[in-house]
Amino acid sequence: MPDTSETIVGVEYVLTLRHEEGGDLFGSSKGYTVDLRVDPIDKGGSITGSHYEEGYIFDRYWQALHKYDELYAEYDKKEGELQPSNEVTDEKLAETNDRGEIIEDSGGFYTNQHYWDCDCSKNYIHKKALKLSCSYCGADNRGVGEDDCPDSREKEVSKLFN
Ligand SMILES: [Zn+2]
Repeated sequence: MPDTSETIVGVEYVLTLRHEEGGDLFGSSKGYTVDLRVDPIDKGGSITGSHYEEGYIFDRYWQALHKYDELYAEYDKKEGELQPSNEVTDEKLAETNDRGEIIEDSGGFYTNQHYWDCDCSKNYIHKKALKLSCSYCGADNRGVGEDDCPDSREKEVSKLFN
């Protein structure tokens, strides 16, 4: 039995973002998964001892994309070859507006996954990256329980930029 640590000559990092529709043995896995597989390459050019280093599941595409970008930056710096694949973009499941933000069809209108609405009657659109709760109306969008606030309508968000 050869010592494999001496026969490994390189490594590939396979980073994947995909959309899962159904459940599996462990229950529902519906959502967006991000995982990173490490494929060590031996002298003969074969992959030996693949394993998953990272694995996440998210409800929303923008959350998954955030993690994907984070892992991309982290593993791109490492020695070895990064093989990124965002299958959601490939499948055109996600759409973006002209500012590159992710929008989705919410049944007759588009919502923007980067913004949320609180309960205030004015100035109710908040950017998730900046603010996840409103001190005026008490709305909280930090993802606990079922009190999640809705994503803002794209039409209303785009008005802020025009
Ligand atoms: Zn508010």
